[in-house]
Amino acid sequence: MSVSTVAADRSVCAPLPVLGRDVSVPLVTGGEVTYAALDYAASAPALQRVWDDVAAYAPYYGSVHRGAGYLSQLSTDLFENARVTVAEFLDCREDDQVVFTRSTTDSLNLLAAALPAECQVFVFETEHHASLLPWQDARVTYLDAPRGPGEAVAILERALAGRDPRGPALVCVTGASNVTGELWPVRELAAAAHAHDARIVLDAAQLAPHRPVSVRDLDVDWVAFSGHKLYAPFGSGVLAGRSDWLREAEPYLAGGGASRKVARRADGGVDVEWHESAARHEAGSPNVIGAYSIAAACKALTEEGFDRIVYRERHLIRTVREGLAEVPAVRVLSLFGDDAPRVGVISFVVEGWNSSHFAAALSAEYGIGVRDGLFCAHPLLRTLLGSDPQTQGECGAPEAAPGEKSLNAIRVSFGAGT
Ligand code: PLP
Repeated sequence: MSVSTVAADRSVCAPLPVLGRDVSVPLVTGGEVTYAALDYAASAPALQRVWDDVAAYAPYYGSVHRGAGYLSQLSTDLFENARVTVAEFLDCREDDQVVFTRSTTDSLNLLAAALPAECQVFVFETEHHASLLPWQDARVTYLDAPRGPGEAVAILERALAGRDPRGPALVCVTGASNVTGELWPVRELAAAAHAHDARIVLDAAQLAPHRPVSVRDLDVDWVAFSGHKLYAPFGSGVLAGRSDWLREAEPYLAGGGASRKVARRADGGVDVEWHESAARHEAGSPNVIGAYSIAAACKALTEEGFDRIVYRERHLIRTVREGLAEVPAVRVLSLFGDDAPRVGVISFVVEGWNSSHFAAALSAEYGIGVRDGLFCAHPLLRTLLGSDPQTQGECGAPEAAPGEKSLNAIRVSFGAGT
């Protein structure tokens, strides 16, 4: 288990009320606290290789696409090479584009902004809000929660069969659930989408850190992921895939870098020629360190090899699940069943415990950092918990009275380097 040692200076901590009793929080007045971070699904600690690469580049930081000097040229090369590395990591097609964004949320919103007119969107209600919500301006069909991969494909098939075949359509699906860790049948869903002349975007935020993602092999049209979940916490994300919709869309942001030529018109207005490359949607000075760190993470994961990463992770998943199974009060949340293939993301509730208090106690008493809440997937949590979760905080932990039925869950997650 990876345990990072962090310096702590917490001189005063109030007692924590858990189920009506006070749990004393260790009072630390400096020195060191041992802390196990098991919250990789939220944000994964950077791999050492990523820190090292970023530190090596930092002294040479310069503007991208905006300077003749050495540092600017170097930074431009590194930024564009990062694009190539990401394309290789995702096994993209020759003519695919890699657009650097801020995150998965940003990538999916960019695609939503680039949808052709009259596009129909199909999305399972079980999605993370980042995949569920960006399509509000399109004609969205929300699909019921399936109880297995086969059912997911059948539900999608049915919905697509009833779609208006005249317009374009897009399916948005996650590769691995941020709540249950379960893997979704992406290849089969892509085949169903294409059979009905629809396109598909893969939300790989939780998949890419755990499994190889091949655009060609899965036959998806786009992939979105976040650097900070892929051990590259410097504020970048990726949208990679087909260039046509992106090229035909208005730029996501208007500004320098996205425009090729700008001229005043005789009538006083302004004519703009926008780039057709990825730059079209990357207006403003790009986050070169973010892109560079994603490329460093892609290289590190490729060098490590997903076979080894998956092998180690399977062992950890088994250990955690077996441990949880020994506690009768624990109920592990699952949509597809206990035997479903999954990544290292496990959510559970503890009978009689408020999940927020339980998670706080894990941190305070044992130095184990987990996530509690509804994980930005409210409809899914509602299905899994069989209750109406309180939705006080969008992604955070809603409050419940001590002893009340669990309104939210606890999530343990780990990954490469754990
Ligand atoms: N999709 C999934 C499956 C996620 O787990 C998350 C974040 O937890 C997102 C999308 C959004 O990622 P970000 O917050 O980096 O935009």
